[in-house]
Amino acid sequence: MNSEIKLLEKNKGKSDKWVKLICGASNEDIFAIEDLSAIYAAAGVDYIDVAAEQSIVRAARNGIRWAEKEYGKSTGLMISISDGKDIHFRKAKFDPLLCPPDCLRPCERICPANAIGNYGIEKNKCYGCGRCINSCPLNLISEYEYDLSKINLPETLQTIKPDAVEIHTEISRLGPFKEIANILKNSNVKLKKISVSCGLNKSKKKPEDLSNALWERYEILSEHNVPLIWQLDGRPMSGDLSATTGRDIVKLWESIGSNLPPGLIQLAGGTNGNTHEFLKINNFPDGIAFGSYARKIMQPLIEFANGNNKKLYDYPEKMLLAIEKAKNLLKPWKLGCDK
Ligand code: SF4
Ligand code: SF4
Repeated sequence: MNSEIKLLEKNKGKSDKWVKLICGASNEDIFAIEDLSAIYAAAGVDYIDVAAEQSIVRAARNGIRWAEKEYGKSTGLMISISDGKDIHFRKAKFDPLLCPPDCLRPCERICPANAIGNYGIEKNKCYGCGRCINSCPLNLISEYEYDLSKINLPETLQTIKPDAVEIHTEISRLGPFKEIANILKNSNVKLKKISVSCGLNKSKKKPEDLSNALWERYEILSEHNVPLIWQLDGRPMSGDLSATTGRDIVKLWESIGSNLPPGLIQLAGGTNGNTHEFLKINNFPDGIAFGSYARKIMQPLIEFANGNNKKLYDYPEKMLLAIEKAKNLLKPWKLGCDK
């Protein structure tokens, strides 16, 4: 019996796991975001996480509404915000005029968002995964900060009125985290969930330092009386797509999973269709978030529709195919999503 079937057997009669779709904190590809939101909401994700910008939120809500109307699904909307500089809030750039004509264009081949062409990098499509940056033999590609959540957060919250927010933080940034928590508290926006993503990135800290940092943030957020989600990131970004990337998050979960604050524990960062295979059958977390991988498997379908200036749901047969693919990704985590 393979691990997926074992998990389904084990879960019989129990509730679903929590699943989130990450569209990307700096991803502004509104056509793709609308399609992705419709596909994954119809397949049964609980929340869709997008950049804190109105046009992007509008696109995601269009997709969510479509899935509600056609499939009766109810899906929450989360926006990503940050308490400091964070790699989730960046984009890449280069000057195409400097590229030699005979370059084999490794940057273009490595980009999971198909954001690179002869024109350089298409800003809207780039979500800052960083994979292209080291691919250029001439070091022409650089990154720049692109944080939509920094533009007047209190007003953004009032305008968007999200169901949930995810705060990106780092172990050493407790003060800035407190400030963001205060803004949320004083915003009078009724949040159904607050999620915390605290990177171990580049900090040379140990998993137990991360666990301590999450407990410190729990002290701050517990007075909000909002259900909390602790996002464990196996990799700094979800942009690493090989089959084995899910191992890193499983290692992190196994090392600190038993010492985390009250709330829902969700895996992210490198998660993909293989992640569940690395988990012990008796030690599954509460949920999972899929980012780049979820987007990548839909890319050809979405690009076909967008190339014709249409939404994927203008092509019912292709939309059905996309929803089936999404359900397959969710199957080990969602009971009955193949119904
Ligand atoms: S590889 Fe990543 S960082 Fe580079 S252009 Fe593509 S999405 Fe942006
Ligand atoms: S790899 Fe570097 S030189 Fe080649 S096309 Fe990309 S940015 Fe230009």
